[in-house]
Amino acid sequence: MTLNAFSVDLEEYFHVSNFASLIERSRWDALPSRVKDSTRRLLDAIDATRNRATFFVLGWIAERHPALVREIAARGHEIACHGYGHELVYELGPERFRADLRRARAAIEQATGTVVNGYRAPSYSITEASLWALQILVEEGFRYDSSIFPIRHHRYGIPGFARRPVRIRLGGGAAIREFPLTTLAAGPWSLPLAGGAYLRFLPPSVFSWGLGRLVAAGEPTVLCVHPWEIDPEQPRQASSWLVRVNHYHNLHRTEARVRQLLERFRFVPLGEVLDQLEAQGRLPDLDLAERELAA
Ligand SMILES: [Zn+2]
Repeated sequence: MTLNAFSVDLEEYFHVSNFASLIERSRWDALPSRVKDSTRRLLDAIDATRNRATFFVLGWIAERHPALVREIAARGHEIACHGYGHELVYELGPERFRADLRRARAAIEQATGTVVNGYRAPSYSITEASLWALQILVEEGFRYDSSIFPIRHHRYGIPGFARRPVRIRLGGGAAIREFPLTTLAAGPWSLPLAGGAYLRFLPPSVFSWGLGRLVAAGEPTVLCVHPWEIDPEQPRQASSWLVRVNHYHNLHRTEARVRQLLERFRFVPLGEVLDQLEAQGRLPDLDLAERELAA
């Protein structure tokens, strides 16, 4: 069995944090939707290579495209939760986070009729400032999280966090499984190999070499791709140079890169990798101090 997980964060090009200050939420419904076509192309690529994936669905998308979410589930993929309105966890705070989570889950479960128990925060926004979110996830019935990126970044990341999946013990007997976004230790550096911008920016040979090294060593990996990353025709936003580079770089090359990875490696949903690791006794406990979990 494979220990590689493939994931898609199911959202529109206008949901990304990079455009949050540029595109008012109230305009979302008026903007042209692009999510269906690019998601179907991702689905076709995943299915054609006999892989399976986890789709972290935004509640907002589930309400507007329930048939698409049903189709993903019917094609054998895992449906999980990406929050409702793509708001950063550390900006929401505990109460609004819980409300956002409930609203998202209700919308997704309404669309699919199945239970959702995996979560990924918008822009990996579970950081040291928002570790309290893990307790809320447990209280709301979630069984795993994949939001912690063990790197330093201005918007996300917990540098020094475990690179491999762990069971985070939260005190009082509560625990949640965490699948951190994939990095490769390279001397004093951490090479992020979790897909997304890193798949678009790193030379494909470097990305593929790094992932191959982890796979050869029997390490679990997780890739993350967004439908808008394979959609070079999406409407362009008048943003700063830096944001433009970050969002639009190599969009016309990403689909081919994703296809190459799908052909080279075998992928299954995150929940299955975690179940396997648990069955093999390879999910070590990580204790978080109460201080870190306080809201
Ligand atoms: Zn997202």
